Amino acid sequence: MGAFFCSNFKGDRVEKMFGLFGGGKKKDFDVSVNGGAAKFTVKAGDNLLKAALDNGVAWPHDCRVGSCGSCKAIVKSGKIKALTDFSYVLDGDQLKSGTVLACQTALKSDLDIEVELGEEIATEMLSIDGTISQVVDLTHDIKELVVSTDTAFTRAMLAGQYAEIEVEGVSDPRSYSFAKAPSNENDGEFTFYIRHVPGGAFTDWLFAEDRTGTAIKLNAPFGQFYHRPDDSMMVCMAGGSGMSAIKSLLEACVNDQVERDCIYLFGARTLKDLYCADEMEQIKSSWNKNFKFDYIPVLSADQDSDWTGPKGYVTDYFKQAYLDNSSMNLTNAQGYLCGPPAMIDSAIELLKSGGIQEESIYYDKFLDASSIPGGRK
Ligand SMILES: Cc1cc2nc3c(=O)[nH]c(=O)nc-3n(C[C@H](O)[C@H](O)[C@H](O)COP(=O)(O)OP(=O)(O)OC[C@H]3O[C@@H](n4cnc5c(N)ncnc54)[C@H](O)[C@@H]3O)c2cc1C
Repeated sequence: MGAFFCSNFKGDRVEKMFGLFGGGKKKDFDVSVNGGAAKFTVKAGDNLLKAALDNGVAWPHDCRVGSCGSCKAIVKSGKIKALTDFSYVLDGDQLKSGTVLACQTALKSDLDIEVELGEEIATEMLSIDGTISQVVDLTHDIKELVVSTDTAFTRAMLAGQYAEIEVEGVSDPRSYSFAKAPSNENDGEFTFYIRHVPGGAFTDWLFAEDRTGTAIKLNAPFGQFYHRPDDSMMVCMAGGSGMSAIKSLLEACVNDQVERDCIYLFGARTLKDLYCADEMEQIKSSWNKNFKFDYIPVLSADQDSDWTGPKGYVTDYFKQAYLDNSSMNLTNAQGYLCGPPAMIDSAIELLKSGGIQEESIYYDKFLDASSIPGGRK
């Protein structure tokens, strides 16, 4: 039997619509996915997506904070509790059909559910204790954070994926993309590029003083942002700390000597926001010699420097330089985008208008509490 929703409901209303009243002791519940193709148990207190990933089910997901909609699934039978208001992300038809966001769903009974597992990869989750071993300023508001652990990269972490970082004193874990391809890391080390978001709980903490030596917990790997092998052109765009995931993905492409051309546009405000110039040179000089790699930094707010490179938003620059004035054919190309949500949204539309198929555009939006419906819980 399908579950019925109305638009504009709140979490407590869903609970009532599913006949859920009162508190009671939390229990574990069983989930059957796609008619029994996968089965797992959701432990009391866990959300549906977490349990699926913990059990190695290749459930689609990007942000895991109720904002991207990637983890949506249709409840066929069973009772759930919505942890946030799904109507921020799902439309009326989806709500009526019983669609839920798995990352924002707690269970109140056993569940039958349908989800498009697609090509998503199954990953084995790690929960790793580590120590912040190095903090380096990359720009005035981006730090490189290295976490040292006893864990070697023996498991499948893909370049482009991300980890959750937990520290004492910050209530919820925060997501950060791996900034290096796994095989480019020293054993047991994980590198992140973290931008200061003023007023943000974790980054205010990180930027307040030298945190070297602090104990930290990593949960990983998460995300569906990784390289899809192909011989078509790659168009990459990043802004700010979005450099992390793209750089890691490009390093993996170098390691694999992929046979494809790549253009990477990096958006920054001013000269003082540029970083990783040496690393980009290294990638360029090591790219498969039979193919082209172009790295193009674009400054959006440069007023008075000697910068002679491209100016404006990366998307405007790409349109003007590659779409309007050239015969570049993007029909079979792939897009890889990472960074601020607004930049990604306009880059997706631009790449589609240039001919890239929507399903060939992969991205991670660096969402924070200001873009999570209702903020963090
Ligand atoms: C998949 C993924 C990968 C990511 N990778 C990276 C990465 O590699 N590097 C990186 O720098 N970042 C990355 N991020 C973003 C990162 O996870 C954090 O969201 C970011 O660092 C901010 O964390 P914070 O704790 O400092 O701020 P938060 O506490 O999340 O606050 C962010 C902002 O929102 C405001 N705010 C807080 N509560 C509310 C509310 N209720 N309503 C409105 N506004 C509110 C705060 O004042 C602040 O200005 C990624 C995010 C995702 C989803």
